[in-house]
Amino acid sequence: MKVILKAAESSKEIRSRLNFKNYKIKNFIQFLLMFVLMLQFLTCNNSDGLENDIVQNEWKSLKTIDEDGLLGEKVNLWRNNRLFYIEESGYLIDGFENRPGIHPWQGEHIGKWIHATTLAYSVTGNEKIKKDLDNMVKRLLATQLPNGYMGTYESSYTFMAMPENGVTTKLADDIQPANKKGNSQASDKAPCGGWDVWTLRYNLYGLLTYEKYFPNDTIVEACRKMGDLLIDYYGKGKYDLTRYGTRNGISSTTLLESIVMLHKRTMDKKYLDFAKHIVDVSENNSKLRLMGTMLEKGSVVEPGDGKAYQLMANLLGYLLLYRCTDNEEYLQTVLNAWDDIYHNHLLVTGGPWSRKMPYNGNRECFAYPEDFDMDKILVEGCCDATWIILNIQLFELTGDAKYMNQAEVTLLNDAYEHQSTDGIEYCYYTNPNEKLPHYEKQFHCCASSLPRGFEMFSDHLAGEINKNLSVNSFSPSVIQLTNQFGGGVLKIEGNYPLGSSAKIYLENNIEKKFTLEFRIPVNTRHVSVFVNGEKINSTINERGFAEISRSWKKGDMVAIDLDYRLKAHVQSGENGNKWIAFTYGPLALAQKISEMPKEEPFMNIPSTEASEFLKMLIKSSDSETEFSIKGTEIILIPYYQTGSKASGPRTYFKL
Ligand SMILES: [Zn+2]
Repeated sequence: MKVILKAAESSKEIRSRLNFKNYKIKNFIQFLLMFVLMLQFLTCNNSDGLENDIVQNEWKSLKTIDEDGLLGEKVNLWRNNRLFYIEESGYLIDGFENRPGIHPWQGEHIGKWIHATTLAYSVTGNEKIKKDLDNMVKRLLATQLPNGYMGTYESSYTFMAMPENGVTTKLADDIQPANKKGNSQASDKAPCGGWDVWTLRYNLYGLLTYEKYFPNDTIVEACRKMGDLLIDYYGKGKYDLTRYGTRNGISSTTLLESIVMLHKRTMDKKYLDFAKHIVDVSENNSKLRLMGTMLEKGSVVEPGDGKAYQLMANLLGYLLLYRCTDNEEYLQTVLNAWDDIYHNHLLVTGGPWSRKMPYNGNRECFAYPEDFDMDKILVEGCCDATWIILNIQLFELTGDAKYMNQAEVTLLNDAYEHQSTDGIEYCYYTNPNEKLPHYEKQFHCCASSLPRGFEMFSDHLAGEINKNLSVNSFSPSVIQLTNQFGGGVLKIEGNYPLGSSAKIYLENNIEKKFTLEFRIPVNTRHVSVFVNGEKINSTINERGFAEISRSWKKGDMVAIDLDYRLKAHVQSGENGNKWIAFTYGPLALAQKISEMPKEEPFMNIPSTEASEFLKMLIKSSDSETEFSIKGTEIILIPYYQTGSKASGPRTYFKL
């Protein structure tokens, strides 16, 4: 397999570093410092002379200025509602300002919020968002203790107080505890430990993301202090990080990604050493051993009980560590895990499914494909978000359309189903066959993770790779063009994904010759391309993008018609049971129901060949995305449209 490598930090990171307002070498000492940093940077990133390949194959985002259509509707539902709702509740910061917090992992929300809100501001430029964001960062920083601790626990059960060689304080399990009303937001103040390192992981993630956009040494210093405190307890020769947290430490080793981020920002080798040490202790724990298991092509069901969200969050750490070291074992770990998840653990909605089994930990853990049962599986919102982010990170590294295809399928289907139309409520879990998805206002992990997935996608709508202008989504949007494309903007119009066509308008200031490439969505058969009304043949490049090379000037317009393919998917499971589900282009289809029909074999058809079922689907004449099933009352519409306070989806039909 050809591995496309990347040396440097993403362009955005570099840009923001270089955007220091007074970025001039004012004196010799400063120059020396820069020189030393550069040397460290090169030793970190260029171990085998692949530098040229590396830089050429990096996909770099162009700035999104506006989104419209379905994508704009969904991302703005979060920006205009949930973003302020959770902030104004005080829940983000209370646990830090008035320790202890009321929930074992209350501390994760602020880091997630800062990440998503920073990206929201980057697109919208909304001054209220910026003001609230700045204020929240300031308040969080003010809660840091002199020793570096920034968490929501009382001193008797912080991670420093409960070294792994004899924990006496109760550990909180890794499923959201329910309160007395049965809601998934705990109200008990019982001292439950085990999630402090997790909180620091998200603090670092959020603060370092914010600092990328708004450089600030105070923030870097606060992050260093958190990193140093963690090294004091879990560094080489200290306590075993995998004995902290849950599921053999898989919740705690998610720290890996944040520590590599800290290394990338500071170029301090001690953080890179600590990151490698986290890998070592993970590998030494026979029940965790993510890298070893993946390199042996084992199953994601095994490491850390297969805790799905956390396992994928660990993979983000391995991927970033690879980007910083060029050690291909880290990358291979991620690619092998990706293959296993893609082939064995995804629904047609793009949701990574999980199920409680005797061999794993709980209902949020991956289970073997032969244990699939429609009534017992579910999708945690955090799994959708983390799968989207993992695919986007793989896409940035390789520019390969297959990763963005997966991110898009999960976003348009499973992730959107988790968000209610009021923009405030979210489901923790969804099931592809359920009469009423459980939308709730409560503060839970999933409602804080999903907006991160939305914003990450919005941040990758178009970009630059190998000097190509790369259009990554046909969602209506406005993208700012850099000078290499003549400046100005790129506008995408249409009704994608509900309408299967798009128009791309070049509004660059200066005519430029370059290659425009665009990603064709999954399950799309033919693509017709017209430039200024004239039909042209585009070629598909090795990354799966269609290309057009010419000189582009203001007013040029590319019209694209997509021919979505209708596809039937047969899913096998427990006791030889089989189900069938349908997709149309990137959209999963489902019946909107308010009662679950009595489960009977779906169709009296002798064959279970998918092609036989496809013959029964009839497209509605007045809708691009509605089908009926011949001989039945069943109407299929896009999956994400089925969930409401009074209805849910029926996606899989039993055969
Ligand atoms: Zn969650």
